[in-house]
Amino acid sequence: MRDISCHDTGLKPNMQRSGPIKRLLQTFTLFAIVIMATGQGWAQSVPVVSGARIGVHPDSTRLVFELDRDLPYKVFTLADPYRVVIELPEVSWRVPEKRMKASVGIVSGFRFGLFQPGNSRVVIDINSPAAVKGHFTIPASLGKPQRIVIDLATVSAADFASGPRSVQSANWANPARTPQSAPRPQAPRNDDKRVVILDPGHGGVDPGTIGGSGVYEKNITLKVAKAAKKILEASGRYRVFLTRNRDIYVRLRDRFEVAHQNNAELFLSLHADSIRNRKIRGGSIYTLSDKASDKEAEDLAAKENKSDIIAGADLTGYAPEVSRVLIDLAQSDTNKESWHLARQLIGELKGEIKLLRVSHRYAGFAVLKSPNVPSALVELGYLSNRLDEKNLKNPAHHRRIGNALLRAVDKYFTRKDQNNRS
Ligand SMILES: [Zn+2]
Repeated sequence: MRDISCHDTGLKPNMQRSGPIKRLLQTFTLFAIVIMATGQGWAQSVPVVSGARIGVHPDSTRLVFELDRDLPYKVFTLADPYRVVIELPEVSWRVPEKRMKASVGIVSGFRFGLFQPGNSRVVIDINSPAAVKGHFTIPASLGKPQRIVIDLATVSAADFASGPRSVQSANWANPARTPQSAPRPQAPRNDDKRVVILDPGHGGVDPGTIGGSGVYEKNITLKVAKAAKKILEASGRYRVFLTRNRDIYVRLRDRFEVAHQNNAELFLSLHADSIRNRKIRGGSIYTLSDKASDKEAEDLAAKENKSDIIAGADLTGYAPEVSRVLIDLAQSDTNKESWHLARQLIGELKGEIKLLRVSHRYAGFAVLKSPNVPSALVELGYLSNRLDEKNLKNPAHHRRIGNALLRAVDKYFTRKDQNNRS
C-alpha cells in the first residue's frame, strides 16, 4: 500500500476513523457511493468520481471526494461571492442526480461538472471567507475507494485577501487551456441556407434550476435544442449550430460569439425557470433591454446572468457586461428585429405549450447582448411546476416545441424578406 500523501497539513487522514473524534463530527452524506457493477471496464478510460461528502469538524469543514484512481487536483478560492473551486482532469460524475443544495458548516451550495474540455470542476459556495487548511489523498484500501480530502477553515476577510489563494497536488499540471469551449467557426458554405444558433442554457458545472423530480435545467435545454435542430434542418432551409453539444459549461460571452463566428441570422437561447409558487406554469419569451419590463423579468435576468459566477469562472479583466448590460446604439436595429422574432415565437408556441399571460418580457440578459444578431430567450416553462416539468421531460413535447420554433423562424424570415424587397 502506498503512503498517504499529505501536503502542508498536520491532520492525519486516520482522524476520520478515530472513535472520539468521529463522535464529534457531524458528517452529512450528500451523495451515496455508487456501486458500479457495470462500469468497471469503461472506468479504465475516463476517471470516475463516485461520491462526495461534506463533514463539519470543530474547527474546519472537510470535503471528501471518492474516485476510482489517483487524480491530480488544484484548489483555489474566489471572492464576490466567496467560492472554493476544485479543478480536476475531465471526470465522469457517477453520483445520483439529486438536489445540489448543501448547507453544511461554511458551505452554502455545491455543484460539479465539466468546465471545459479536459477539465472538470467542483464549485462550492461558502458563506464566509475561508482558506485551505490542509489537503491530502488516501489510496484505495479495504474496499474503500481512492479519496481526496480538503479541509477548509474560516479566515478574516483581510487574511483572505492577503493569503495564498490556491494549493495543488504534487502531480498537478495545468490542463491545456482552450481559448473558449464554444464550437469553432465552420468552413465557408456555398448553399443559401440560413444559419440559426440554438443555445441550450447552462451546462457542465452550471446545472441551472433543478426540478422537483431532480431533473436539471441544463439537461432539458440540451434535449430540446437537439430535437429542434433536427426539425429545423430537416426543412432544408436552415443550418443549425448549438452553442454546446454536450454537458459542458460555456461562458455567456462565448455563446453569442458562436453566432458571429458562423454568420448567424438568429440566436435563440433555451431555458426553463423555477419559482417559489409551484402552481405557476407556462413559458415566456424575453428580449434584450437595459430596462426590465417588470420586477420578475429583472430578477430572472439577474439569475441567468450569474452562470459564469456559478461555474466559478474568473472574470477578472473582463468588461462588466455580465453584471450590468448596457445597450448601445448599434443594438437598436437588432432589437427591433428581436422584437418581431419574439412576436412570431409567441404566435407559434402558444398553440403548443402553455404561455404566461404576459408572454413577452424584456430585461438585461447578458447572453442576448449580440450587437447584430437578432436574439430571444425562450423560457420553456417552470420546472418547479409538476405538469410543466413532466412535459419538459417528454420527447414528444420537445418535438412540439421544435415544430413551433420552425414555424416561428419561417415566419420571421418571410417577413424580413418581404421588407427587404419593398
Ligand atoms: Zn436558465
